This record gives sequence, structure tokens and C-alpha cells, in this order.
Amino acid sequence: MATPPPPQQGAAPHNPYGTPPQQGAAPQHNPYAMPQQPQPQGVPYGNPYAAYQQQPQPRQPHQAGYACRFCGAQPAAPGTVRGHQGMVLMMRFLSTHGPFCRDCGTSIVRDMSAKTLWQGWWGPASLFITPLTVLVNLVPRSAFRKLGPPVGGFRPPLDPGKPLWQRPPALIIATPMALIALSIVALIVIGAATS
Ligand SMILES: [Zn+2]
Repeated sequence: MATPPPPQQGAAPHNPYGTPPQQGAAPQHNPYAMPQQPQPQGVPYGNPYAAYQQQPQPRQPHQAGYACRFCGAQPAAPGTVRGHQGMVLMMRFLSTHGPFCRDCGTSIVRDMSAKTLWQGWWGPASLFITPLTVLVNLVPRSAFRKLGPPVGGFRPPLDPGKPLWQRPPALIIATPMALIALSIVALIVIGAATS
């Protein structure tokens, strides 16, 4: 009795499509793979705050955004007003930071400069620092003078007061200091002429 030939175990079945599937090989194209997103231009390192940084800043020319630190009025300009006190062996450097409106800034410049002319001289180094301090105050003073009249403050602005050179401390101190400076110059000139 003839038995039919057993099926060929292990034989590869006939593949009607030719190429067998390559098991284990990496798929050339995975439709579910995450596509590599290119980094957006202009945002390095994926800065999450970039959107905020790109918003236009409410900055306007001519210091329109500043309000006076003392009275709250506008317009105001930033600036640091300086003063100096000489105390023979010690000295103090004073400063007041703005922004200030026109009237408050002018008042503070005049007050601190007048006090510097009164209190500033009393020390060896202070003899040089005092006139420098008054000169340096001319920078914020000119910035305050360019501002318009202050409006919208929560209190009245400071009274600018008299100009520096009409104030008694300046006159009382500046006159003898000018005489002393003149005499020193005279002594130098005389000493140079007679040597
Ligand atoms: Zn003010």
C-alpha cells in the first residue's frame, strides 16, 4: 500500500510574492514614527519665554514712562543727585535716585548742592570732592530742566526754590572759598615769580 509522501516539513512554503518578509530588519518607513520637527527659527534652545520676549515693550521715547518718585507726576527723568559732607577725618557721600519730575528734580539738585557747598569742604580730600559733586549735579539738573511741567502727581511737586547761587549757604561759603582759592593761586604765582 503506497503511502502518500509526507508533507515536506520545514520546507519553505512557496511565496507567491517573491521576496520573503525580512524579519528583524528595520522598517525603512514607519508611518507611526514621530517626524523630526525642525527647531523653529529664531528660538534657540526652545526658550518657553520667547513669546513674551518678542512682545513689544511699552517703552516710549523722552522718558514718558517715568513718574516722579517724590510726587508721582509726569513727565519725569531718571537721574542721581549727589551730595557730599566733609568731616575733617571722615566724609560722607550722599545720593538721591530718581526719577524726578522737573520741579522735584530741580529742588533736590539745588538743595543737595547748597548743602554740599555748606557741609562739603571740611576735609582735605573734600576740598576737591565738593566742587566736583556740584559740577556732577549739573548733568541730572539739565535733564530735569528739559522736562515739561509736572502733571498728574498724587501730591504737589517740590518747590524748586531759589537758584543755587542766590542761596545763603552758597554765598557764605563760596565767597571765602573763592577768596582762599584766589589767594592760593596768588601765592603760587608770587612764589613762582620770586624763585
Ligand atoms: Zn515730582
